[in-house]
Amino acid sequence: MTTLYDVIVVGGGLAGLNAAYEFKKSGLNVLVLEARDRFGGRTESIKVDEYWFDLGGQWMGGTHKYLKQLCDELGVKSFPQYDEGKHVLEINGKKVYYSGNISTLNKGYDLEGLNETIQKIDELASELNPEAPHAHQKSREYDHLTVSEWLDRNTKGIDAKSIINWFCRVCVAAEPSEVSFLYFLHFIRTAGSYSLLADIHGGAQQDRLIGGSQQISEGLAKKLGSSSFALNSPVRAISQDANQCSVRTDLTTYRAKYVVVAIPPTLAGRIDYKPPMPAKRDELTQRMPMGSVIKTIVIYDEPFWRKEGYSAEAISDQGPIFICYDDSSHDDKKTAIVGFIAASAAKDWAEKSPEERKQAVLECYARWWGPKALKPRYFLEKSWKEEEYSRGCYVGYTSPGILGQCGEALRKPVGRIHWAGTETASAWVGYMEGALESGFRVSKEIKQRLTNSKL
Ligand SMILES: Cc1cc2nc3c(=O)[nH]c(=O)nc-3n(C[C@H](O)[C@H](O)[C@H](O)COP(=O)(O)OP(=O)(O)OC[C@H]3O[C@@H](n4cnc5c(N)ncnc54)[C@H](O)[C@@H]3O)c2cc1C
Repeated sequence: MTTLYDVIVVGGGLAGLNAAYEFKKSGLNVLVLEARDRFGGRTESIKVDEYWFDLGGQWMGGTHKYLKQLCDELGVKSFPQYDEGKHVLEINGKKVYYSGNISTLNKGYDLEGLNETIQKIDELASELNPEAPHAHQKSREYDHLTVSEWLDRNTKGIDAKSIINWFCRVCVAAEPSEVSFLYFLHFIRTAGSYSLLADIHGGAQQDRLIGGSQQISEGLAKKLGSSSFALNSPVRAISQDANQCSVRTDLTTYRAKYVVVAIPPTLAGRIDYKPPMPAKRDELTQRMPMGSVIKTIVIYDEPFWRKEGYSAEAISDQGPIFICYDDSSHDDKKTAIVGFIAASAAKDWAEKSPEERKQAVLECYARWWGPKALKPRYFLEKSWKEEEYSRGCYVGYTSPGILGQCGEALRKPVGRIHWAGTETASAWVGYMEGALESGFRVSKEIKQRLTNSKL
């Protein structure tokens, strides 16, 4: 007879591992099944000349309390994101170098209504319940609109509108004409505000981790111990009856009292369930695609931009890089720029050759900071759409007509199967913090059920 685990966790990313660690601390018998040959999912750190760079999740925000706690527990140190000097704003074919806040730019840009629109978005977002955006009385009204449709009706300045459209592309990694306005509000609600998502100081891009972010997952796996996980184990099927679940990988079938599926919804929809999922859950997994991002890191021999008074921070709707930052190491011994090709541009650029992409990124930096940008030491990149067990990033999003009607199915357990992953978070959806939060939430749900069943 095979072992009957208390809980099997599908997915060894931050959500699944954090949940598993909580189970383990409570003395439960837990097994994590991870498809890849590594932990960390959408976090992946790569070593270049003794320094770690992140090809996936990278920044720890000022309000990312669970991530901070875990860093402290695992002895992972952080350092602030460099942002001294002038930034680039390149919107609607106009380029300016600026310091301070974009909204104060008054030459050449039509920013009428930018602050008011952001304030309005924050107000509407704050009315949502982060655990149940679908429960808001206007949820379906908001969910019938895309972000760009709402902006067309509510923003005056042409460049103001383009900046918020750009924000949607870089934060959700999907076109504003694809993203449901309800989803956009929910995303902002769980982060706290538009500026918390956009900002460095106090915001989502505040700090970086020395040694990279994947070490958090590796640290959690170490705490679990090797008898509590199996790598190279993609889960293909889950069946359940009134008493237990069976979880099938290519080689083995495991048994557990409960299962946590801690993978993006669209990948969860590729698992074969017996009995089949209820209609709303299945529809949600059919209609929650992943965003599109190619992350690039260009390593240079020297930080030439710093010497010329630039921060390496740029906002562009021309691309191919839509946003970038200084990515130098904590001791400044390895100097680099991290840049993102986002939304539909990422899908188009993914079809070009690596050499074409590299050249286009370097030319983009040369456009902003001069010809020294054309001479890197290394060029690293990762297109997350190509990853079999991610199929995109940073997060699954919804187009109109799905979150309002099927939102409840994101987190509502189906029999003995519970759902985790950053998409299910009520704080910082799409971020490492959201993944960790979902792990805590799902572990509480199952521990409660195990306690009740013993009564
Ligand atoms: C380019 C990029 C930049 C980002 N930047 C940031 C940032 O700066 N700050 C931040 O906080 N967040 C950032 N994120 C987002 C952050 O990395 C994710 O929100 C977080 O890592 C998600 O964790 P998760 O556990 O929910 O999901 P995942 O990391 O996707 O974990 C799911 C795991 O399940 C596995 N899996 C999938 N299918 C199966 C299956 N059938 N059976 C078994 N295992 C399976 C996967 O291999 C994966 O390991 C970024 C992400 C990317 C890709």
